[in-house]
Amino acid sequence: MNTIVGLDLGSLSLPGWHPRHNDGACIVRAYAVTHRDGVFLYDTGVGTGSDFIDEVYSPANIDLVDALGDAGIDERDVSAIANSHLHFDHCGQNHRLDAPIWVREAELEAATGEFYTVPEWAYISDSRRRLAAGNAIVAEGLTLIETPGHTPGHQSLLVDDVDGGRVVLGGQVCWSCAELVGSGPVDADAHDPTWIEAAYESVRRVRALAPATVWLAHDTSPCQL
Ligand SMILES: [Zn+2]
Repeated sequence: MNTIVGLDLGSLSLPGWHPRHNDGACIVRAYAVTHRDGVFLYDTGVGTGSDFIDEVYSPANIDLVDALGDAGIDERDVSAIANSHLHFDHCGQNHRLDAPIWVREAELEAATGEFYTVPEWAYISDSRRRLAAGNAIVAEGLTLIETPGHTPGHQSLLVDDVDGGRVVLGGQVCWSCAELVGSGPVDADAHDPTWIEAAYESVRRVRALAPATVWLAHDTSPCQL
């Protein structure tokens, strides 16, 4: 049986120009999945040491290792990590651990773009990088699913054999549970206007998996489709 715990890694204050500014503080969540052979971590939150991020987003950060400890997880038990995507608030604490990191080629490519992320946080050394393509089985009952739209190489994690059925860790496949169960992704959440169709298709893909619950990166609600 796989178990999932949400890790609260703090929050961001979104600037006035951000499309989600009026929603208030943006919470940042990662998820740890304990499986037969270790712990698989999905996202690592915001990093430290970027003057730009500090100034624009005033992050209230929680250290990843502390958050794991609070959840009763020894960081040495984390056997692998996946970043849903490489925006600064999803990969910022990759360096706090030394486990391999699953990403997609399209995401690595996107992350070279200007103003995409904090390059030092998104950088993944050759020795840690694992490339996922299509549906990638990363542990027993754990499959990374391609869900582009918010970014070109966005991926979700399907977790089978969880108490209560299967679960999808959806990252930013949608901004909120309300949108995921309602009208779906909005234009402002897509990488650019050409990616909105892909974003819808990704939501359809998640729905088709018929998960009991979907958990998102910026919403604490257990989302029932
Ligand atoms: Zn993002």
